[in-house]
Amino acid sequence: MISGKTAVYGLIGNPVRHTVSPEIHAVFAGALGDDLVYAAFPVANDRVKEAILGAHALGIMGLNVTIPHKPACAEFVSELDPMAEKIAAVNTLKYAEAGYAGYNTDWIGITECLRSNGVSLSGKSVAVLGAGGSANAACVAAAEGGASKITIFNRTVEKAEYLALRLKKYYNAQIEAAPLAEARGSEIVYQATDAGRGENRALCPVSSTEFFRGVEFAFEGIYTPWETEFLKLAAKAGVKAVNGFEMLVRQAAASYAIWTGRPVPEEVISDAYERVGAMVRERDRR
Ligand code: NAP
Repeated sequence: MISGKTAVYGLIGNPVRHTVSPEIHAVFAGALGDDLVYAAFPVANDRVKEAILGAHALGIMGLNVTIPHKPACAEFVSELDPMAEKIAAVNTLKYAEAGYAGYNTDWIGITECLRSNGVSLSGKSVAVLGAGGSANAACVAAAEGGASKITIFNRTVEKAEYLALRLKKYYNAQIEAAPLAEARGSEIVYQATDAGRGENRALCPVSSTEFFRGVEFAFEGIYTPWETEFLKLAAKAGVKAVNGFEMLVRQAAASYAIWTGRPVPEEVISDAYERVGAMVRERDRR
């Protein structure tokens, strides 16, 4: 039951109507016995600063940040975690007296998703499709995990080149950029474009099973639809591939741990994956 002592957390983004983060955090809080609520707040693109200052004044203890506010939020924090600085995006704000501290847990969600699927990045070649925020987090996860080569393929090749250049400031891995039309699979592939999501659900960023030659594991950020054209093509090529839902639950667990100082146990993460995942699939069928 909500009381005067209930801590408030939430999500800011634009739009936030379709988010399932409140349901995921409700599973975590219920299992861990924490007195908190988590709500979704739509914030107009030109009101991010006001929203953050207002939330801080209200004593909101933590916020997740989603599209399109992740890069902007980095400007309005009192402290920026070094990983959020490398990714140039904040998806988690934690209350402190002086203002919010900014973190990025997207790269942790990606790393943990790979670990739970038994995939090691060490010494591997990685292909990333896309050059936006999620691609950036995946490149950082790959470099932190010891990948030897990262190739970023993007429709707008200049963005891939810019991202490769930025990442080379931090990492020694071989990092290259190329047009999406020339995409070839590597040992590990992360699909971080919007092709296949929502109104783009009929699209696929790669055109044939040939792309998957030599691929050990493929994964992507999208989870609505639950199975995209990209995942269907991977299955046809006989490659193990997973959608973005596990990554979402695991980045949420990492945010929860930052806020409460306690890790979310593996069985609670699995429970959230099963229960909220069933809801997402049901919603997708309608
Ligand atoms: P973003 O910064 O807006 O980047 C979008 C990327 O998609 C860009 O590289 C863009 O290429 C590319 N793109 C868009 N439409 C395309 C099309 N029709 N064909 C080919 N490429 C296209 O977005 P983001 O934050 O990186 O998110 C990317 C995806 O990951 C989204 O589907 C998002 O929902 C998902 N995601 C999932 C999680 C999770 O936890 N599961 C977390 C973050 C993001 P251009 O540069 O050429 O425009």
